[in-house]
Amino acid sequence: MVNRLGITLTVPKDVKAHVGIIGGSGLYKADIIENPKEVKVFTPYGEPSDYITVGEIKGVKVAFLPRHGKGHRYPPHKVNYRANIWALKSLGIKHVISVSAVGSLNENMKPGDFVIPDQFIDMTKLRNYTFFDGPTTVHVSMADPFCKYLSKKLYESSKSLGYTSHFGGTYICIEGPRFSTRAESRVWKEVFKADIIGMTLVPEVNLACEAQLCYSTLAMVTDYDVWAEKPVTAVEVERVMNQNIERARKILYDVIPKLSENPIEEECSCCKALEHAIQ
Ligand SMILES: [Zn+2]
Repeated sequence: MVNRLGITLTVPKDVKAHVGIIGGSGLYKADIIENPKEVKVFTPYGEPSDYITVGEIKGVKVAFLPRHGKGHRYPPHKVNYRANIWALKSLGIKHVISVSAVGSLNENMKPGDFVIPDQFIDMTKLRNYTFFDGPTTVHVSMADPFCKYLSKKLYESSKSLGYTSHFGGTYICIEGPRFSTRAESRVWKEVFKADIIGMTLVPEVNLACEAQLCYSTLAMVTDYDVWAEKPVTAVEVERVMNQNIERARKILYDVIPKLSENPIEEECSCCKALEHAIQ
């Protein structure tokens, strides 16, 4: 079977998976996965960030890919987002949960909280944003960039585990690898009204849409961005990050077995993203 991206979905059964996890800063290991097997996937876009670990969580086939590679080899602007999404799609994945560490631009979204964003603003500059570089041109809708079904499930799990979580919010994605100036940070917060800030959502989310995958982000707030003028220490950021990573693992372990093969269409039309695209 070949889909619109030209991906041949004939991978061996034992490496097929249903749910993909893209691990961000701090989440490099797939130690919640049972019977792990490392798979090297070749793509027309070059190498994914790392080997993909395929295994199970409570009987559900999952695949884990560390976004920055083991040891954080690839900075945000050098991650091969196209290869990563293509590789996950080629394993038969339907749902992609992206885990990422973010800064907060909103007083109410405190270090240690989780945010499941529903919008983004793209301030990146130099990335490969599409699988369709011509001669086929595709303009997908980004009005609602995240899978509503998957986002709701992530929120329900994080709440049921007792973690402070925010359903909805705007993620501003900057090019990096540098952080924002104070002036930029104030613009993102006061003019753009963004809630959280990071460097990796775009173009991962765009490409997931083109690949017709259900995609949601579990964002972990590590600190307030520089607008707050309350400098945080690296020790504090690391403490919050370690606590969040442990909690993110628990959320993944809880939510993955609850994901349906066929979510109801009002909440999820991700698999039809290209049917509604302008070409
Ligand atoms: Zn969906």
